[in-house]
Order: sequence, then structure tokens, then C-alpha cells
Amino acid sequence: MFKYDDTNIFAKIIRGKLPSDKVLETEHALAFHDINPQAPIHVLVIPKGPYVSMDDFTANASAEEIVGLWRAVGEAARLLDLVEGGYRVMSNHSANAHQEVFHLHIHILGGRPLGPMLEGGDIPPNGTWHRPA
Ligand code: AMP
Repeated sequence: MFKYDDTNIFAKIIRGKLPSDKVLETEHALAFHDINPQAPIHVLVIPKGPYVSMDDFTANASAEEIVGLWRAVGEAARLLDLVEGGYRVMSNHSANAHQEVFHLHIHILGGRPLGPMLEGGDIPPNGTWHRPA
């Protein structure tokens, strides 16, 4: 898998070298608005530790870091008043998921009905997808 590169954009945001529109900061996590929002509310929640993606994080982060990140996801959604209307949480790992920034980030999307889970791409009609054996 990829080696962590601390010149990535989100590492610079954590170090205060680049600005962000901050929602929440805790010991283990930082939440800020996405610069190119795909919904009325589109926030990213990142761990402060150097993890490339969900794969790296779930294999190598401490229990405190994992709890800290997920608590921050819930807390950010509450601060953004998304609980009643609903929201979607997702994270892209590597090529098939089109990951663009190689520091783990959890997307929180909300503020309007978000439609089906996946839109676009080469998606077969319901029921015709087969898992690889
Ligand atoms: P992904 O495709 O999951 O890697 O998503 C990367 C996300 O980071 C995209 O939604 C970008 O709009 C967002 N992004 C890139 N640079 C910044 C930045 N400086 N501040 C906030 N969001 C950013």
C-alpha cells in the first residue's frame, strides 16, 4: 500500500500551514468544510495522526485514535444540525473509490435528500451485480 507522505494537503492543514474552515477540533481529529462541496453540507473529518486511508487507519491506529475519530464524526454532524434531517458518511480508499487526498478523511454529506447511495460510474441495474468469487 501507499506510504504516508506528509506533504499532502490535509497534513498541511493539521500543521496550520494551510487554512481550513474548521467545524471541530479534538485531541485526535479535525473537522472542516470541503472546499468543493457536493451537498449543502459537506464536511471532512480527519485523524491528526499520519494515516493514508481507512485501510492504514484500521490496521495501525490506536484504539484511542479510532474512537476519537468516530466520536468527532458524530459530534460534527450534531454541531452541523444534521441529525434530524439525516446525513451520509463515507470514505474513499484507493483507486476504485477515487481517493484523491492520501490522508484518511471521512466525508459527511447532508442538508438535502441525497438520493441513492451510488450515482454515476458504471453501475449495473439492481440485482445484476455479482461479487467476485
Ligand atoms: P477524496 O476523493 O475522498 O480523496 O476526497 C478529497 C476531498 O478533499 C474532495 O472532496 C476535495 O474537494 C477535498 N479537498 C481538497 N483540498 C481541500 C482543502 N484544501 N480544503 C478542504 N477540502 C479539500
